[in-house]
Amino acid sequence: MTEALEASRLVVDDQPELERLKITEVFLSLQGEARDVGWPTTFIRLTGCPLRCTYCDTTYSFFGGTWRQIDDLVDEATQNGARHVCVTGGEPLSQKRCLILLKKLCDAGFLVSLETSGAIDISAVDSRVSRVLDLKTPSSGEMARNRLANLPLLTAHDQVKFVIGDRADYDWSVQMLKTHNLAQRAEVLFSPSHGQITATELADWIIADRLPVRFQWQLHKQLWGETPGK
Ligand code: SF4
Repeated sequence: MTEALEASRLVVDDQPELERLKITEVFLSLQGEARDVGWPTTFIRLTGCPLRCTYCDTTYSFFGGTWRQIDDLVDEATQNGARHVCVTGGEPLSQKRCLILLKKLCDAGFLVSLETSGAIDISAVDSRVSRVLDLKTPSSGEMARNRLANLPLLTAHDQVKFVIGDRADYDWSVQMLKTHNLAQRAEVLFSPSHGQITATELADWIIADRLPVRFQWQLHKQLWGETPGK
């Protein structure tokens, strides 16, 4: 075998390795938040996150995980039979090949959303994906990680989420809304941080200020509590 042929075989043999992702879990449930709330959805949770938010409810996704081929993940979503697929984490964009998964899911005809911390560049995400960008509020402890250069990239197809733990978070979020014209760019979601403020408090503030935002309350936690894989 010539050296050139040997080299080309190596490239072919290595290709499947390049199409792998570290995965914490894949499961079928109802979408618990954002625009697609209530729809049967396949969730693909990627392993790893460079942030450490105080309120994180998916710390089990920080480490471990299993290598899976991207095509296998698309096949599993197809077998699940739900039109909606949510790619989440952790921070899914911390694995660069997440971009390949998103494209392949769109090509397969799924309605795809991506839940991202907003700390990583979203510009290369397939435009068919609805990006749900979680802007980190002060009480998250990770506000400094917000990549503000992502904000002008948002479109009406995307969503911006604020998880609000106290009045200071709320006031900061309102300021961000105004400074960056977020309600004109994308759908804006305000969500109470579980166990920090009551949903009623946040709802009352939104109504009093007549904010152009959508209140949301995590449906999956009302149905199943903190159970992973739900
Ligand atoms: S970005 Fe998401 S997964 Fe990462 S620590 Fe924050 S809440 Fe948890």
